[in-house]
Amino acid sequence: MRDFDTIAAIATPPGESGVALIKISGTDAKTIVSEIFKMKTGGIFLNSRPWTMHYGHILEHDSGDVIDEVVVSYFMAPKSYTAEDVVEITCHGGYASTRRILEQVMVMGARPAAPGEFTKRAFLNGRIDLAQAEAVIDIINAKTDQSMRTAMAQSQGRLSREISTIREKLLNMLAFIEVTVDFPEDDLESATAEKVKDNALEIVEKIESLLKTSGEGKIIRDGLRTVIAGKPNVGKSSLLNTLLMENRAIVTDVPGTTRDVIEEYLNLDGIPIILVDTAGIRDTQDIVERIGVDISKQKLVEADLVLFMLDRSRPIDNEDLEIITRLENNRYIVLLNKTDLEDRLDYDHPILQDAIQVSATNGFGISELKKRIKDMFFDGTVKAGEYSVSNDRHKEALMRANESLKDALAALKGNMQLDVVSIDLSTAWSYLGEITGDTLQEDLIDKIFSDFCVGK
Ligand code: GDP
Ligand code: ZN
Repeated sequence: MRDFDTIAAIATPPGESGVALIKISGTDAKTIVSEIFKMKTGGIFLNSRPWTMHYGHILEHDSGDVIDEVVVSYFMAPKSYTAEDVVEITCHGGYASTRRILEQVMVMGARPAAPGEFTKRAFLNGRIDLAQAEAVIDIINAKTDQSMRTAMAQSQGRLSREISTIREKLLNMLAFIEVTVDFPEDDLESATAEKVKDNALEIVEKIESLLKTSGEGKIIRDGLRTVIAGKPNVGKSSLLNTLLMENRAIVTDVPGTTRDVIEEYLNLDGIPIILVDTAGIRDTQDIVERIGVDISKQKLVEADLVLFMLDRSRPIDNEDLEIITRLENNRYIVLLNKTDLEDRLDYDHPILQDAIQVSATNGFGISELKKRIKDMFFDGTVKAGEYSVSNDRHKEALMRANESLKDALAALKGNMQLDVVSIDLSTAWSYLGEITGDTLQEDLIDKIFSDFCVGK
């Protein structure tokens, strides 16, 4: 284990709450808390046994004034979250109490933890690998049970184990090639080539099966960005409200929501959906409205799915057609809204072919819409278990490793020297190691942890 300084942070969100948690990790964690913690039993915290909890008071070091009534837990290295000595102070949740305790911990010699630094230490100390560390953010961000299950499986090392098995196999192949190259005999060489080919094919198959559901895994992790588009008054906001009312499971605001674009989370039978209601898309001279329209266009570019809405009680006009032209590069579903009113559409337009008839106000057709979304992205059923690959970084590393393996196979087919093949194999080995963090550069690792929150 490396030797780091002692860090501390408030691990619970800011604001008032029943309790809050202050985490301290590092060699001096126990000594530091000992200085300011008076145990109710009269015992000395420094002498307490590992993995025990103690009730008492945190005092201001200099004056001896009581700051708060607390419970203190002690986890001894290496059996702790960071694999270092960890002390956790559970105090009253409130701005003053947590601030003052943290301040005392700093005065005694700890330094404020950077975002994700506790988890980073768990990684640097070898308790978890990078994919497991990344899963910690995913668990915190999970919006549906499905997202949670996928993140939990990754944090338990499911993907990491698969990757390690493949990498071990690659190492064996490399060793085998090395022996063959050192003792060149014709028949040995062709036997090795044959064996390497079989193994490489097997690994390609494995990687491709991991990649197969990675698109769905990403949706489960990040949410399906679904934009409701259509000109003003077709019923976009009504649809958003109807969908939200039926699926109250997630009701949090998406950060960055503007006045002109509303974003809401929605749990559609386990699929996390980020539903985006755009301001009407149309040409406008009004500056304020213009900004809203520009944002709407941008949202269309970013969308995984567009719900394009038409008002069925009016004929299609140029404004509708203008929006249609923007949908060429999107996956979309056409919704014909206001089925409760008289139908005035001309069904000749090809875009209306697979359209779904709905009423945003009375809920007609909404279940068909949900079914269509599941068919489009999950072949109709969201898997009950977890998805192996949900992270773009992992997906890219797998794809690169796969390409290198295919290069190796091509080289074998072209009767290239075995040491040429071994270069491709070791490249694949290295790409796969990026997933677990074995072969990733330090600055990239830092970047990953900077996305964490402070206190995790
Ligand atoms: P947006 O501008 O596209 O967001 O449209 P809104 O959701 O604000 O709806 C515009 C108007 O159409 C409102 O008066 C809604 O009540 C009405 N509306 C929306 N959906 C339906 C529907 O299915 N049937 C009927 N009759 N009116 C609807
Ligand atoms: Zn609206």
